[in-house]
Amino acid sequence: MGTSNTKHCIFCEIVHGAGEASICFEDARAMAFMDIQPVNPGHVLIVPREHHDSLNEVPEDLALHLFHVALKLGPVVRRVARSSDLNLVVNSGEAAGQNVFHYHVHLIPRRLGDGFDIPLPFAGSPMPDRTLLDAMAARIISELRDPVRRVTRDTVAVA
Ligand code: AMP
Ligand code: ZN
Repeated sequence: MGTSNTKHCIFCEIVHGAGEASICFEDARAMAFMDIQPVNPGHVLIVPREHHDSLNEVPEDLALHLFHVALKLGPVVRRVARSSDLNLVVNSGEAAGQNVFHYHVHLIPRRLGDGFDIPLPFAGSPMPDRTLLDAMAARIISELRDPVRRVTRDTVAVA
């Protein structure tokens, strides 16, 4: 089951016991294992057993379950990694920096001065005029309200 599993997928191999991994959590729908190239010790990847390429394809209840697993693992990883801070990261799609196209959530313990960065606010972006922010918010509200034009999660048309 799942979506677009036509190519070789390293995370499917791990899920099916054919790939080497250091597994730290398993249940009926999800697994978590140590990232092979951790930002910091304790960097965990949470993956669905079922193959889905990216967040666009993951069924909502499964996406919520993975987040639930992340919430369960977060305090444990922080304790084990002796780190009070963490990033939960999802890279969904090539332009967003996804490299392994089996949906996954990164749980990354963080330390001051570790050199890793998700630079927000982005220094390359100016702060737009409030009218532009209001206009974008209004467009989103109108799409949410319009049952005809409302797109489903996997039918988003890119203008
Ligand atoms: P992303 O850029 O969000 O797709 O991240 C992919 C992550 O998967 C990277 O942090 C890699 O270090 C990690 N990774 C790739 N192959 C493996 C593997 N065989 N076992 C564990 N982690 C892996
Ligand atoms: Zn897969």
